[in-house]
Amino acid sequence: MSNESRVERWVRPEIRAISAYHVASSVGMLKMDAMENPYDFPESLKGDVSGALSSAAINRYPDPEASKIKAALKSLYGLNESVDILFGNGSDEIIQILAMVMGGPGRTILSLEPSFVMYKMIATFTGSEYVGVPLSSDYSIDIEATVAAIEQHKPSLVFIAQPNNPTGNLFSDKALKAIVEASPGVVIIDEAYTAFTDADYMSWLNDYEHVLIMRTFSKVGLAGLRFGMLYGAPVWIEQFNKVRLPYNINSLTQSVALNALQNFDLLLEQTEQLRRDRESLYNALSEYTSFKVFPSEANFILVRLPHSAKKVFEGLKEQGVLIKCLDGSHPMLSECLRFTVGTQDENGRLLQALKSVTGSLGLA
Ligand SMILES: *Cc1c(COP(=O)(O)O)cnc(C)c1O
Repeated sequence: MSNESRVERWVRPEIRAISAYHVASSVGMLKMDAMENPYDFPESLKGDVSGALSSAAINRYPDPEASKIKAALKSLYGLNESVDILFGNGSDEIIQILAMVMGGPGRTILSLEPSFVMYKMIATFTGSEYVGVPLSSDYSIDIEATVAAIEQHKPSLVFIAQPNNPTGNLFSDKALKAIVEASPGVVIIDEAYTAFTDADYMSWLNDYEHVLIMRTFSKVGLAGLRFGMLYGAPVWIEQFNKVRLPYNINSLTQSVALNALQNFDLLLEQTEQLRRDRESLYNALSEYTSFKVFPSEANFILVRLPHSAKKVFEGLKEQGVLIKCLDGSHPMLSECLRFTVGTQDENGRLLQALKSVTGSLGLA
């Protein structure tokens, strides 16, 4: 039997049907496509990090509980014993753990669309049913349709990105409450962009036992570290921990993450700067009268062009600026581009390249 036929025979059809998560090559490019923090790790901390790394006992298995980081986070957020924390190799791994525990054949994972694509992908990997409820045309939650879908499909797991990616907006508390109160299973509020908004749902853990809060270090300057967190009631975290591979957070990650937490204010200075520069970038993009520029509570800005979004994306790429083209990824994102907020210099270079590309396409 040829390998082709073996693949055909044995790889699950839903896996054969999808393509791998695509990461665009960015060698030599100005990288404004992936919501990374453009600033390097603060210079003053690099010494501490190399010290921590050289003293890490890499001949031994890591602390399976990452207990020092847990203690540091609990004190940072003033959490008591009614909240426990699960750590993942990025929040992507947490989504996978959740889907393995709560999903599977005959179970439904529900999210909103358009939103973060990993919810649907991981639902597929785990053989779960997936329901994506369309947002309204202004990207707010259609409360009636969402509650109806929850009542119909009874999802074990609901994912809500707050603020939402790739649209950048916050959903209303009223909509989130309606979803939480209608949900028979668990609701995950994914606060990946918490550093870029004043909205904060940690206190909902006190109000709702079936709500958990997911956060990540990726968008605050440590995307390369792969470190995600899930906060929630110990009864849930205990179940999720059973499926987590014992040493998923390696010793080097633990030591850098601890160092970053002890100096979190330095990272927050960078995100504060990005919040200010988001406003300047928003204003500059809004000067194009034919563009619809969506307000953002995250470190990126979504823009809808009247036409030629793909050409603008290609034109920027030719000029060495990589952004995200969302046209074609979802019907509600046609002609949409997403710009990650960079340093002032990077934003300036982006705007300059945009000017020359749009000029030749008759966009103003
Ligand atoms: C970027 C992003 C994540 C993924 O974070 P990692 O910790 O890097 O895996 C999760 N949720 C949303 C909504 C994101 O945009």
